[in-house]
Amino acid sequence: MRIVLLPGDGIGPEIAAATQNVLRAASERFQLNVQIEEHAVGHASLQQFGATVRPGLLETVRSADGLVLGPTATADFKDEGSGEINPSKYFRKNLDLFANLRPARTYPGLRNRFGAFDLVVVRENTEGFYADRNMEQGNSELLVTPDVVISLRRITRHCCERIAQAACKLAMNRRKHLTIVHKSNVLKIGDGMFLDICRDVARSFPELTVDDVLVDAMMAHVVRQPDRFDVVVATNMFGDILSDLTAELSGSLGLGGSLNVGAKYAMAQAAHGSAPDIAGQDVANPISLILSAALLLAWHGERSGDAKYQSAGRAIEDAVAIAMQRGLATKDVGGNLGTAATGQAIVAILQSDTATASTAAR
Ligand code: ATP
Repeated sequence: MRIVLLPGDGIGPEIAAATQNVLRAASERFQLNVQIEEHAVGHASLQQFGATVRPGLLETVRSADGLVLGPTATADFKDEGSGEINPSKYFRKNLDLFANLRPARTYPGLRNRFGAFDLVVVRENTEGFYADRNMEQGNSELLVTPDVVISLRRITRHCCERIAQAACKLAMNRRKHLTIVHKSNVLKIGDGMFLDICRDVARSFPELTVDDVLVDAMMAHVVRQPDRFDVVVATNMFGDILSDLTAELSGSLGLGGSLNVGAKYAMAQAAHGSAPDIAGQDVANPISLILSAALLLAWHGERSGDAKYQSAGRAIEDAVAIAMQRGLATKDVGGNLGTAATGQAIVAILQSDTATASTAAR
């Protein structure tokens, strides 16, 4: 399996290094022959090539079996004409990665104030309120006068249908419960359509239990009783905000792994940003990107029909759970290890025989 790794900005290089070590250990243990090819993206690429994503990188990524993208300094990149492209948007759009799967679960041994839970937010990834990806040309945020801004949200039948399908299929492999999150009482047409389509698609999966919750009420429900939820489907921005909350409820934003998936490609990417406030200090939690990479291996296994990759993905998740049970973790989740040492602890568990599926009880 050929993986392109783009470390990114802020804490990106630190968590990417730890992730790379874990991928190599998993490759060795499961004989995956993973080849990792590292390229610059973000500020490092802007300095070297005059663009945050250099020409040709997209083709390199398309020819690989998977992409791991570290967090990038999105807020710094304002002028596409000067090469300041948002790499996350660029790959999501150009690889048509329409589904963003963001699992969140609690871990035995880790403090959790809201009770044990295990859910996945399935977020539409290609339209919605993200003004930089809604238009064929230009941006859907308009400065009408210096004091008036209009931000347009795009919702299409096609994108609603495919995200609903992805969510239903995932729910069928889990606890068969789908929750549709929306704001159809205010966004009556756009979210009305999203809700109707999700319900329609779910009718083809009669074994599913389906309910829906308004996005504002969802913030209360998920804090009050997170174990009520299994698979939660939402439009782009609602899903983004909700999944930061569910990651934090699980223990830390630094546990938020995610996979961006399309029909042909997939990109592992932590749910959080580049966290410039803690960059370069060896304190960032690398587990978000490590879990994202585990999801990428599992996706490759499913696509290629080679179960070794799914076993490797599961073994990484189990090794993470064991590390946390033993308190081998960063400060944000109550441990006292640095970024690199946390990665090494997960590598050591993976290399030992204790990292089996049964060890890490949920
Ligand atoms: P960006 O502008 O790139 O999104 P940000 O700092 O605004 O960066 P996040 O990177 O998502 O937003 O970070 C939000 C908060 O969560 C910050 O206080 C950050 O330190 C913390 N955080 C994010 N990722 C991690 C991590 N992997 N480990 C520990 N703390 C993290």
